[in-house]
Amino acid sequence: MPSPIVSKRAPIYADVPDEKWNDWRWQLSHRLNTVEEIEKVVPLTDSERKALQTSGLFRVDITPYFISLIDPDDPNDPVRIQIIPRAEEMQAFTSMMEDSLAEDRHSPVPGLVHRYPDRVLMLVTTQCASYCRYCTRSRIVGDPGQTFSRQEFEAQIEYLKRTPQVRDVLLSGGDPLVLAPKILEEILRRLREIPHIEIVRIGSRVPVFMPMRITQELCDMLEKYHPLWINIHINHPNEISQELADACDRMSRAGIPLGNQSVLLAGVNDCVHIQRELVQKTTRIRVRPYYLYQCDLVEGAGHFRTPVAKGIEIIEGLRGHTSGYAVPQFIVDAPGGGGKIPVMPNYQISASDHKIILRNYEGYIASYEEPTEYAAHDPATCSYCQNKRPEPGQTGITGLLDGEEMFLKPEGFDLIHDRHGIQHRLKDEKKWKPLGIGAGTKENAEG
Ligand SMILES: *Cc1c(COP(=O)(O)O)cnc(C)c1O
Repeated sequence: MPSPIVSKRAPIYADVPDEKWNDWRWQLSHRLNTVEEIEKVVPLTDSERKALQTSGLFRVDITPYFISLIDPDDPNDPVRIQIIPRAEEMQAFTSMMEDSLAEDRHSPVPGLVHRYPDRVLMLVTTQCASYCRYCTRSRIVGDPGQTFSRQEFEAQIEYLKRTPQVRDVLLSGGDPLVLAPKILEEILRRLREIPHIEIVRIGSRVPVFMPMRITQELCDMLEKYHPLWINIHINHPNEISQELADACDRMSRAGIPLGNQSVLLAGVNDCVHIQRELVQKTTRIRVRPYYLYQCDLVEGAGHFRTPVAKGIEIIEGLRGHTSGYAVPQFIVDAPGGGGKIPVMPNYQISASDHKIILRNYEGYIASYEEPTEYAAHDPATCSYCQNKRPEPGQTGITGLLDGEEMFLKPEGFDLIHDRHGIQHRLKDEKKWKPLGIGAGTKENAEG
């Protein structure tokens, strides 16, 4: 049952003049963060009150626009639990980490994460329009004393200039769209001056928290720096208001392809039917579902975690059942810095040397007859193969398929399997370091 597009203001904002309500600076300066303020809009539960009165909690701030999307009578409202802290946030859990993706280890200069061969994540601010309670970067985000740093920015630009394999820069934070317009434009301009940077992407939840920020003026500015892509972050159909739809329309008209990255969250969207409605509604506003993330092992997010199988079940309920455009990739971002790993249902049932057996979303099972003769692609005569871009040390399984490597070995493999050499090493205890032992523990994962 499609719900109507909502457009509402909490009663306390009824008398705010439209020009203020629709001014993003007004929204930012009227954000709510204390028990007293929030209670004027949403009657708080004991758990929420307790969390809000705890010092040292990850920053709370909610725009008047976003809090107005909450049904105040529903303590389990899906928008509410993303943004109002609960006491569970203070609970530790097994495998909890501060920097679960080991981003700090992958930083060649502060604020730049170079994890993949051809692209980098650039953290340009620690500020957001509102703060998601499950934030994967809560270790750095929200600190009010630390916003855009020019010194860090210059070091990041220098690194990018001397690193030609980077062709894709992903601006994130914090949220790049809360930066002062002049600073945002300067960042884009400086990136565009680097010839090997082919695309720039922005990851932002501003359209969802504060769609009034997506002014025509902002879109006119962004349009000057194409090819520019934007990923937004919607988790539940209730976040898709008329204002958000209009903001997305303005960005699309400026030629910006829009994607959605959502997080699988217990009590918010851990349901095939909610997800189906979400992805269908996002495609209607021309936002293509990109990733659905498994919740990270981050402090404060334990109560949002679901089993990974829930994500597989959701993809099972989307693929084939709805438009292919509406199906995101389900991703587990591997703890310890392993990076994004797609996880999905199995569609391949078996194979022989001439047939592959596949099943579809309905359970229909088919054999696909493979060609008996295949004029194999010849890398020797292919100019793309001859001029492929290097991926130093990161080719992985493709490297095995390419014939560049014969095997991949876990660290310490040679040492452990050197049964002959071990005798000599044991004589000299100082040289012996059990490299591979304990791999995968939290300590190791954090490097
Ligand atoms: C997510 C991420 C990217 C971008 O990954 P894509 O799969 O290309 O969207 C790049 N760098 C880091 C460090 C990331 O976490």
